[in-house]
Amino acid sequence: MASGQQVLFLLPEIALTTQIVIRLRKIFGNQMGVYHSKFSDNERVEIWQGVRQSKVNFVVGVRSSIFLPFDSLGLIIVDEEHETSYKQHDPAPRYHARDMALVIGKLQNCKILLASATPSVETFYQAQQGRYGWVTLKERYGEAVMPEISLVNLMQERKEKKLKGHFSQTLLDAMQSALQKNEQIILFQNRRGYSPYMACKDCNFIPKCSNCAVSLTYHLGEHELRCHYCGHIEPPVKKCPACQSIKMETVGLGTEKLEDDIKLFFPQARTQRMDLDTTRTKNAYQQIIQSFENHEVDILVGTQMISKGLDFDKVSLVGIFDADRLLHFPDFRAHERAYQMLTQVSGRAGRKKDRKGKVLIQTNDPEQSLLHKVVLGDYEAMYAIEIEERAYFYYPPFTRLIKLTTKHISRALSLESANFLAQKLMTKLGKARVLGPEAPLIHKIRNKYLFNILIKIERENIDLKAVKKFIFEQVEDVITEKSYKQVQITIDVDPL
Ligand SMILES: [Zn+2]
Ligand SMILES: [Zn+2]
Repeated sequence: MASGQQVLFLLPEIALTTQIVIRLRKIFGNQMGVYHSKFSDNERVEIWQGVRQSKVNFVVGVRSSIFLPFDSLGLIIVDEEHETSYKQHDPAPRYHARDMALVIGKLQNCKILLASATPSVETFYQAQQGRYGWVTLKERYGEAVMPEISLVNLMQERKEKKLKGHFSQTLLDAMQSALQKNEQIILFQNRRGYSPYMACKDCNFIPKCSNCAVSLTYHLGEHELRCHYCGHIEPPVKKCPACQSIKMETVGLGTEKLEDDIKLFFPQARTQRMDLDTTRTKNAYQQIIQSFENHEVDILVGTQMISKGLDFDKVSLVGIFDADRLLHFPDFRAHERAYQMLTQVSGRAGRKKDRKGKVLIQTNDPEQSLLHKVVLGDYEAMYAIEIEERAYFYYPPFTRLIKLTTKHISRALSLESANFLAQKLMTKLGKARVLGPEAPLIHKIRNKYLFNILIKIERENIDLKAVKKFIFEQVEDVITEKSYKQVQITIDVDPL
């Protein structure tokens, strides 16, 4: 900034901006602009104009601020670079703000600083290869000590009849003791709503969204079933449409139920929930974070939103629910993501030097090797296994992935066009590079049936421009074909 250049500071989530903006403001005052989607159009136009006229030379913002009209960038900082929220999946433009920062860095010849306690496998690989510089911070800020992370064996406690609903006795005891010492607690469950689904006790029927191939989530506050993909809402099912039984029950744990359960166990404790449902208004994040900072709240319950870099002095305990579910996601990045998420949430405990934080991860599989790496904080051991698998199965960073998705209200037409497209792609790219078409895990969204084609392109010795041009031409060919005119095809680079 001193040399007259512009600086962009990217953050993965609005929830994070509050704390960091307050801190940065103390140093940079009004030289700094803040940019994110909860601001009104007017506020955003003001920043946009400011950047264009070089009046605002320092912007803190979320992924979309990468589109601001900078023309003399000297530095882009990508904080928490591993975060998935840097990637926009839908709607277009489908882009990854971290990767765009790297491209802009090249175009404007500016420095890029990627920061993370749990780097993405791709980024760490580039550092290992010597393509990126690598600096490690071996101490926590303010000499804070690392929290002590332990696994709680749910199987064992179940056997000993110590489980109380979704809570282990170990976690309840730790919560009791923290509350007695007037310390704060964070509970993490990466699922919003009350219960992930309803089910019939007699025949196991599960109410699904009429537009999407997903089960409906029960929300207690509104007493309704909601689809988290299309927003469809309907009243809870009282009588099973399959067997007429009236034994419909809610199954599983969402943040709303967690909040409810806490009130039963600790009626005196002040509880607050932070997830998509409680942060819809502009100042909601700020209010929740501030009241937690001011210790007007004892227990904060939340989704991944609470995992990202938030910094509270008086949190001595973090409890993690459903860790096992994070590990069993059908995605080649599942273990990397689970490691990052669990480590980041754990990092919310004990951020002061006189207070060693405690983290309890509830699991049904305490032998799971990834969980042990989280306990030991052994990022490099996790990386070593991941990178070997990526190499073996030709996944990034060794390849580039491009996902093509066909969408149509007729399943047959969607599949047919996908088959046609895959055939065309294979003529030049070969069978090894073109996978699918395959129906994704959630194969119907908003009444449209989806089919994915995954293309794996090697990174070396290939003319990527020519490949992209070829792919575009094939997609063009398919959608201009008379019978597939109504089929929608989206292209997403590095989609997962
Ligand atoms: Zn039934
Ligand atoms: Zn839906």
